[in-house]
Amino acid sequence: MANVLKLKCSVCGREFSPDEVQYTCPVDGQIGTLDVLYDYDALKSTIDRDALSHELSMWQTSMWRYKALLPISPDATVPDLRVGYTPLYASSKLTVDLGVRQAYIKDDGLNPTGSLKDRASALVVARAAEANIEIVSTASTGNAAAALAGMCAGMGDAIHAIIFVPASAPEAKIAQLLVYGATVVLVEASYDVAFDLCYELCLSEGWYCRNTGINPYTVEGKKTVAYEIAEQLAWDVPDVVIVSVGDGNIIAGVHKGFSDLLELGWIERIPRLIGVQAEGSSPLVSAWQKGLDVRDMQPIDAHTIADSISAGLPRDRSRALRAVRETSGALIAVTDAEIIASIPRLARLTGVFAEPAAAAVYAGAQRAVKLGLIDKEARVALLSTGSGLKDVKRAQESVAGGLRVPPDAQTIRRALHLI
Ligand SMILES: *Cc1c(COP(=O)(O)O)cnc(C)c1O
Repeated sequence: MANVLKLKCSVCGREFSPDEVQYTCPVDGQIGTLDVLYDYDALKSTIDRDALSHELSMWQTSMWRYKALLPISPDATVPDLRVGYTPLYASSKLTVDLGVRQAYIKDDGLNPTGSLKDRASALVVARAAEANIEIVSTASTGNAAAALAGMCAGMGDAIHAIIFVPASAPEAKIAQLLVYGATVVLVEASYDVAFDLCYELCLSEGWYCRNTGINPYTVEGKKTVAYEIAEQLAWDVPDVVIVSVGDGNIIAGVHKGFSDLLELGWIERIPRLIGVQAEGSSPLVSAWQKGLDVRDMQPIDAHTIADSISAGLPRDRSRALRAVRETSGALIAVTDAEIIASIPRLARLTGVFAEPAAAAVYAGAQRAVKLGLIDKEARVALLSTGSGLKDVKRAQESVAGGLRVPPDAQTIRRALHLI
């Protein structure tokens, strides 16, 4: 075994070669857990500490590596949390499954509070701190609120979050806000009413409002995901980027990010952007198909299990349509059944466990290939916007249960068809 010199029992101190023992100390049994020891003298002569530490500061391995392109001063205080710089995986199984030249998946569920929304909230609280504003507020039942609560916690005592949610919001989501220490106002009305009340109080009390579609800087935080995709591919951007769409603020951010890079001459073209909506909440798909003027869009009664992309009248509809139209992209709808089926499918192909709204990009990618909206020769990046751990209940609906057995090895062998 490369590098490993020996295994040493933590109880009796006996030493074993790595080939000699597989699990615990043969003398002490299971209490004798084994320490793995290396040839430190040999390592000392081959590894240089200074070469390792270079460029690995949290500042560098986060969205703040692009601070020169963000609307904050160079010495601004930002949350002490690693936001952004999430991995972009080149997945061979996903590539074969979709039948394209190369498929990538960007796992933004790995952000501190579990979604891409952290990028926006981190920037918004940094701007609030610069302006000496102590309270930031938002209305949301989900990831944006959790992100704001988490980012405020990451600022120490500097900033406090006040979150407006409809009293009917799922308890698990309210719990995440309370755990981070936010003040949670449960409004006995709909999300839209909570949104308007939040905005009204921000204006009258001087709080900073993070509401999506109100605050212009959420997009500036979210655009960093596009910077990362470009940099992680050595500035040779993919042909297509697929993004799930609710209010349309994320796809607007992705568009802004690539537009900045084109402006700077760092990339040669902007990828085609394909937005994916849930069929029961797809006003942007209809508007795009009908070639509607954004001013003529009417609110619909949105219904989908993918709560993070449920929006009857998307608040950033203007920029979402622009992102798709200007990049010769597309907007497609997928059913709730397809979204639920996508959760285990994507997880098994890539190892990325996505919440329903995020897994929707897989169903969208499949459909786009089938419709001929994505070429077989295309390099395609799927953006996974939120962690599957956000909504374990929906994930459970997508898979069969485990094997329930009595505590008996022979029965288990039979159940697993070993005999
Ligand atoms: C918010 C969110 C979206 C949609 O973003 P919009 O800006 O509303 O279009 C998609 N997926 C997840 C996980 C989200 O939290």
